[in-house]
Parts: sequence; C-alpha cells; structure tokens
Amino acid sequence: MAKRLLSVTSRCIALLRQRQRPFSDSRGQILDGKAIASSIRKNLKKEISDLKSKTDSKFGPCLAVIQVGHREDSNVYVRNKLKAAAEIGMETRSIKLPNAVGEAEVVDAIDELNRRNDVNGILLQLPLDVLQSVDTDYCINRIHPQKDVDGLTAVNSGRLARGEMGGTVIPCTPRGCLELIERTGTDIAGSNAVVIGRSKIVGSPMRDLLQNRNATVTVCHSKTKDMQDMVRRADIIVVAARQPQMVKGDWLKPGAIVIDCGINDIKDATKSKGYRLVGDVDYESCKPVASWITPVPKGVGPMTIAMLLQNTLECAKRQLAD
Ligand code: NDP
Repeated sequence: MAKRLLSVTSRCIALLRQRQRPFSDSRGQILDGKAIASSIRKNLKKEISDLKSKTDSKFGPCLAVIQVGHREDSNVYVRNKLKAAAEIGMETRSIKLPNAVGEAEVVDAIDELNRRNDVNGILLQLPLDVLQSVDTDYCINRIHPQKDVDGLTAVNSGRLARGEMGGTVIPCTPRGCLELIERTGTDIAGSNAVVIGRSKIVGSPMRDLLQNRNATVTVCHSKTKDMQDMVRRADIIVVAARQPQMVKGDWLKPGAIVIDCGINDIKDATKSKGYRLVGDVDYESCKPVASWITPVPKGVGPMTIAMLLQNTLECAKRQLAD
C-alpha cells in the first residue's frame, strides 16, 4: 500500500514538473523574418526560372493588384508587393481605381482579371479608400477562389476552417507566422497556443492553422477577460491586436514563442520622421523571457510578402495543371 502511494505521489510530482517546465530552455532568440523571407524568395525565383525553361516560357506567373484610392500606406504596400514579384521573375499588373468609384467598377475590374488567362493571382488591396459605401466582403468574394492569393474569399477561408487544405489558399500573414513557428523546430502538436485578435485576415485564419496542426488554441479579443492568465499558459503566442506594445514580458510563460504581427507608429522625437514602428508586443520586456521572438520591423512583415509570392506561384501551377 505504502509502495503504491509512493509511486502515485512520484508520478504526480513528475507530471507537475512537466507542466511547469518551460517550453524551451534558450531565451531571447530572434526569429529573423527578413532573412527567412529572403531565402524563400530566392527559392521561388529559381523555381519560376526552372518552370519557364521547362515550358519554353509559356509559364509566366502573373500577380495583379487592384488599389482603390490613394492611401499613402497602401501605395507603399502595393509598391513593395509588385517590386518583390518582379524581382523573382513574376509578371505584374497594377490596376489603380480612383476613390470616386462604386462597387460596380471594383467588381468589373475583378471580373476582367478573373477572365484573363494571363493573370494567375488577384489581390484587392485593403482597406478600400472609397468616397461612397462599397461592400468589401462582396468584392473580395467576387475574386475567383483559384486566383485569391490573399486567401480571403469565403471559399478559401471556409475550407481552411474545415481543415480542407488541398488547393486552399492560406492568408499570407498567418501563413508567414506558421512558417516562422515551424522554423523554431518546435512541436506544435499538443502545445497551448494563444492568438490575440480574431480578424478575418490574421487572427481567425491563424487560429485555424494552429488548430489544424493540433495545437490547443485560445483566441483572445477586445472583450476577453483575464487575457494575461491565458497568455501565461501559452507555449506559442501570436499577437495581431493593433495595440502598440500591449503584451508585456511578465505575461509570458518562460520559454514561450512570441510572434508579433503588429505594425504601429508611435511618436519618437529622436527619429527624423518623428515616429518609429513598434509591434503589439513590448519587445524589450518580452525578449528575455521568450525562447523565440519576432522583431518589428523585419519579423512578420517580410514573411507576408514572401507568402504572397508563394501563394501566387502555387495558384499559377494549379491553373497550369487544370
Ligand atoms: P484588426 O484591427 O482588424 O483586428 C484587431 C483584433 O484585435 C480584433 O479582433 C480585436 O478584437 C482585437 N483587439 C483589439 N484590442 C484588443 C485588446 N485590447 N485586447 C485583445 N484583443 C484586442 O487588425 P488586423 O488583424 O488587420 O491586424 C492586426 C495587426 O497586425 C495590426 O497591427 C496590423 O497593422 C498588423 N498586420 C500586419 C501585417 C503584416 O504583414 N505584418 C498584415 C496584416 C496586419 P475585436 O474583434 O473584439 O474587435
């Protein structure tokens, strides 16, 4: 009897120790999104060049970007995406519509690109900068799912939510985050993951991706109570809340992996522009506690563009095979 009690007690102690054990013993390793994205882009460039030679240049993946209006931040994002596509040997088309257009004109532009055999991927730059009301979801859903390189149509997001991954286009930012998590060599299956944010473009698809990888996922949002307690139990944290430096180091379980999607300007008189970029994570306090952490900038941002290129190439290959 005493022997059995001793064995049960020691098993309980071992289990408790396992629960308290940090996810990784190393601390403060930087997940260099810029370097990883650059190596992905290099591989994509080689793949495109090889496919072009194999098909006598009949294969030329083409990305089309529609921009409505002229928001300065969208101008920069669109320019960067088109430049990155051209650099790896993709064709590009840029469609700029004035902010006075209505839904019909946006839909016409999408329909025209849907019809064209020489366009493989269509991206509608968000948010739409329009003077009159335009239903963004309606416009997005007009994109043919096979050309939906942002993975935002109801068809692609529905498939992802149901775990139907064959031919499904995954939204670029969460796909980039998953790639970064995988690069740490961590076993995602069985881990506790917390995603902060539930937008259609980042938080919700991130939840689906981690769940598909057999993590146990908790999603936090603006109405979540006791968020810090949930974060404290997480092995993996992905933050996409649009809240500058919200997640602090003392919220984290030691050894957690921290992926910061946030891009926020905060005032900084020491900078020539008068501001600097920060994430949704307080990098300085989190870095010594996390095992791996993404910086801002040069973390998730470059991965988003690399995944857009990867999605476009995969869409083009599927269209070629059809
Ligand atoms: P949204 O504004 O669409 O969504 C923000 C989400 O965060 C919402 O679900 C919101 O909850 C939640 N939230 C807001 N405040 C809090 C809070 N205090 N506590 C917990 N949750 C909160 O943002 P996006 O998903 O589009 O983007 C998120 C961040 O990622 C932004 O900083 C954006 O700039 C960045 N981003 C970066 C990209 C990149 O390439 N690096 C690409 C896309 C986005 P609720 O649903 O209740 O409102």
